[in-house]
Amino acid sequence: MTGTRTDPQTLDQVVSFHGHMCPGLAMGIRAAEVALERIGPHSADEEVVAIVETDMCGVDAVQFMTGCTFGKGNLVHRDYGKNVYTFVHRSDGYGVRISSRPGGWHRPPEWDELFAKVRARSATPQERERFFSIQQERSASIASMPLEELYDVREVDVVAPPQARILASLDCALCAEPTMESRVRRLDGRELCQPCFEAALAGKAPVAAPPLPPKG
Ligand SMILES: [Zn+2]
Ligand SMILES: [Zn+2]
Repeated sequence: MTGTRTDPQTLDQVVSFHGHMCPGLAMGIRAAEVALERIGPHSADEEVVAIVETDMCGVDAVQFMTGCTFGKGNLVHRDYGKNVYTFVHRSDGYGVRISSRPGGWHRPPEWDELFAKVRARSATPQERERFFSIQQERSASIASMPLEELYDVREVDVVAPPQARILASLDCALCAEPTMESRVRRLDGRELCQPCFEAALAGKAPVAAPPLPPKG
């Protein structure tokens, strides 16, 4: 990909982390580049928080390139279905919000039909080939497009979500699986994990394995 500021080796690593190059990943790479430039380097600690409004391909580029990851708790997903990424400094709340501009995705007229066929596994080999070559062209054009055509970038003041806390675990009274205390639900005086709570409410057997028999 030309046009991005990311070095080729990192690009290869992002693609292998995600599994393929695609327009969504290219979008995420461009957003991550803005974050690295405006908010700061790869976050080894939790100083930078990413709030992502999508759960699509681009989030993998954000995680890999910026160090804001699901496991560290400095990647927050808001399920709004928008290609929007906000990066915030925990220390002072300074942030940038990077949101897709209309038309940035460049889907040619034939795309919808080809995508439906590929998805339904009814595409001919030629149609599949055409679809993936369009995807590669779109990825390359997203990579090289001027940033202003792709994204709107605005400074924002955000209260970053609190840092992840280590909490105690309680054993669920039904399945016995240790469950973080903040996620435990109470029903008829018993402390239950969420799936067991829902199963018990619905009058069904718990989803997970039953508790071990008492000792002795
Ligand atoms: Zn993808
Ligand atoms: Zn349980």
